[in-house]
Amino acid sequence: MTETAPRPWVVLNQTDIFVDERSGQQIGDTWIRAAGDGYVIELAEARANAELIVRAVNAHGDLVKALWAAEPWLEAEKHMPPCVCDACETYEMIVAALDKTKTSC
Ligand SMILES: [Zn+2]
Repeated sequence: MTETAPRPWVVLNQTDIFVDERSGQQIGDTWIRAAGDGYVIELAEARANAELIVRAVNAHGDLVKALWAAEPWLEAEKHMPPCVCDACETYEMIVAALDKTKTSC
């Protein structure tokens, strides 16, 4: 996901799940169809999935920005490997999370 992805997304209803609220454009839904077998997840689960996706998308930019801000501070505090103290573990989690944001989609 890039910073240019329109936000905020919202849960529009239980079948047309998340949209760019400004344009009214539907981005997707969380219905899953089994081949020839109709809907395989309950409406409430689809709704919960949609709400989770919308929260994640809407928070994404702020979370990435916070991680980039924290990374140099924690990098300066970390110790030599293989230390597994809280500061070092937190730094490794931040580096791993930031690496995932570099994946193009
Ligand atoms: Zn340490």
